[in-house]
Amino acid sequence: MTIPLADKNVLVVGLARSGLAAANLLLSRGARVRVTDLAPAEKLSERLSRLEGPVRLRLGEHRLGDFLESDLIVVSPGVPHDQECLVQARRRGVPVWPEVELGYRFLEGDFIGVTGSNGKTTTTTLIGELLRQAGRDAEVAGNIGKPLSQLARHGGGYRTYVLELSSFQLEAIDRLRCRHAIVLNVTADHLDRHGDLERYAAAKERIFNRQQPGDFAILNGDDTVTAAMAGRRTSKVVFFSRRRQLEEGVFIDPQGRVRVSWDGRNEPLLEAGEVRLRGSHNLENVLAATAAGFLSGVSAAEMAGCFRTFAGVEHRLEHVARIGGVEFYNDSKATNVDSACKALEAFREPLVAILGGRDKGADFRTLRPALEGRVRTALLLGEAAPKLEAALAGAVPLERCTSLPAAVRRAFALARPGDVVLLAPACASFDMFEDYEHRGRVFKEAVRELARQGEEVDS
Ligand code: ADP
Repeated sequence: MTIPLADKNVLVVGLARSGLAAANLLLSRGARVRVTDLAPAEKLSERLSRLEGPVRLRLGEHRLGDFLESDLIVVSPGVPHDQECLVQARRRGVPVWPEVELGYRFLEGDFIGVTGSNGKTTTTTLIGELLRQAGRDAEVAGNIGKPLSQLARHGGGYRTYVLELSSFQLEAIDRLRCRHAIVLNVTADHLDRHGDLERYAAAKERIFNRQQPGDFAILNGDDTVTAAMAGRRTSKVVFFSRRRQLEEGVFIDPQGRVRVSWDGRNEPLLEAGEVRLRGSHNLENVLAATAAGFLSGVSAAEMAGCFRTFAGVEHRLEHVARIGGVEFYNDSKATNVDSACKALEAFREPLVAILGGRDKGADFRTLRPALEGRVRTALLLGEAAPKLEAALAGAVPLERCTSLPAAVRRAFALARPGDVVLLAPACASFDMFEDYEHRGRVFKEAVRELARQGEEVDS
């Protein structure tokens, strides 16, 4: 699938992990590479030092001329599709690829693609685990794991690649073919960048674009937007459902077991209660992963073993500590309302919730049902605090906090033994933190600090 790049002028937009991998792959194929990034050189010095050849640089700004003069443009995942220079370049006929497309063109093997508003990383990681524990030659790549271009740069060689794909990447893919493509759910997120839900859903649906009749579309039967995608497929559709029994597909049977019914086989895997991940949303991820595992030939027993032990991914309902009978959970990755609701609903224990950050244009009133009757107090942080306060007034007691460590201390003071303190912001992190991972680390550090103080008091 290799494409000739020797002496081609290729522009790489964005020098984060994926951009760096793309530039090095392009260099190794003899392309003339230019890298542009809005950040200045001082901020990029570490990345610049890892470039493996001569590269022309345009840092601190983008110049339209660089885009228009290129034979190909490769964009990092964080760069918006409708960025003005990209729009103009496309209009002039310059191909614009996301970094995954570049990597894909240099790799052989089968691709399992995972997209959705929420649950991508968890499901992608879980499928990677399933395949690896079953002794398959599989690698997780894309937004998590290694960029595809980095794998391609080192010769690839895996039989299966499990790829997490965001709607930004999907908007621009071209040839990428997923033998198994999963859409987990489509809920209102990133509407600040995609405009409306229809356009956003259409971007996700592009994951099926290059599928062929023997390929599989794995769809959430409980999600109306996702389920509606079935009618437009030429590949085989496999539904998964947490709420309904299916004649064919993956679902929870009347005995409460995860069950696969497909192609004349009908097998239970394990009790839903045995799944180590918490929450009904994670059960949906398990069902989707089961479909992918089953279609890849992993046995029911192997999958069940994996689901019993898989403890999840950092910053996603991550258990941090138990202090004085209070459990602390970090779900910093709950950057939208839906994922925050799912996190809140995952607990039966009374909660003290920490919410807030940068608003992404969400309707916070939809948090109310998840908070009511479950949350003792919601502590509000960051830019979104006033909007949250207006949207949630009367649902549960609200308090504003000035920092995340202050919120952790206040939460501990409000919580009683047996309660859970949950960080599930429903917002982006960029008002106070570098990213959601930074926010999660600050939360965990504040919790550990509390634990240390507790030890001092105890001793
Ligand atoms: P993504 O990669 O799509 O952002 P993650 O697996 O990182 O997904 O999870 C992001 C957030 O969404 C976490 O807060 C998690 O608790 C929540 N979440 C995970 N899976 C689902 C799901 N299937 N539906 C709704 N929320 C989910």
